[in-house]
Amino acid sequence: MLRIVILGAAAGGGVPQWNCGCPVCRSARQHPKLQSTQASIAISADDEHWFLINASPDLRQQLTSTPPLHPKQDRLRHSPIAGVILTNGEVDAVAGLLSMREGSPFTVYAHPRVLTILKTNSIFNVLSESNVKREAIEIDGVFEPTLPDGSASGIEVLPFAVAGKGAWYLEGSAIPGGENADGDTLGLRIADKATGRHFFFIAACAQVTSELKTRIAGAPLIFFDGTVWRDDELIAAGLGTKTGQRMGHISMSGDSGALAALADLGIARKIFLHINNSNHALLPDSAERRAIEQAGWQIPADGTEVIL
Ligand SMILES: [Zn+2]
Repeated sequence: MLRIVILGAAAGGGVPQWNCGCPVCRSARQHPKLQSTQASIAISADDEHWFLINASPDLRQQLTSTPPLHPKQDRLRHSPIAGVILTNGEVDAVAGLLSMREGSPFTVYAHPRVLTILKTNSIFNVLSESNVKREAIEIDGVFEPTLPDGSASGIEVLPFAVAGKGAWYLEGSAIPGGENADGDTLGLRIADKATGRHFFFIAACAQVTSELKTRIAGAPLIFFDGTVWRDDELIAAGLGTKTGQRMGHISMSGDSGALAALADLGIARKIFLHINNSNHALLPDSAERRAIEQAGWQIPADGTEVIL
């Protein structure tokens, strides 16, 4: 059995974003139930040891709100978090690692490009490599993350390449891992070795290719990129100058959007993650929310738990 906790579902900045006065952010300040922290999930196959998929800047708040991730009652220093699996090097995926200093052992699993980004940013040296191991993961290379004592976790992870783009803050500068973009954006297929049940985690995706459709068809569960409702929504709302595509994200709506692309693939449960505060599907009474729910999708509240 896999236990999955959605720690946060929002894109970078969260909902509300500190400096944003858009309708969604204003509404979320008035109605705390609409607030959402930045995207991350936690998974466990044994109910005792947990792995995070990405470490968001909101990690400290997310851990405080999630009792299974608290230290054991009788231990002075302890964490049930055995590892963190990173799918990209964006700030909203890696900044939470800085809140995991203080000497507890765990392992960071990431593509060599992302490990290089961490290595070349000296602030991440707060995670001493004697305590916090770095393990390189490869595209299409299945691995089983391990527990701190080296034993098997019972979780099988397959990272695969997804159409996307590199971290914004590296644009225009020398890329530490080289110019080849392979490994910038990973999707994950995560399976419980005991039952074979699996799900997909794809928090960034610029295009649903026919290969991706074949891969995810028939899955019991998918977490999928829900950054924007329409490609030009940041520009139309006066919030920014970039389209969703320019940021490496497919839109929910439109002929090639997520609703259409994943409509007939026999996926049992579809949950959006990485939802930007410009996206009106976050508002429960919006036409956008009705459309995604009619298409069988869910926007999760922080703390939502899924058993697979
Ligand atoms: Zn906003």
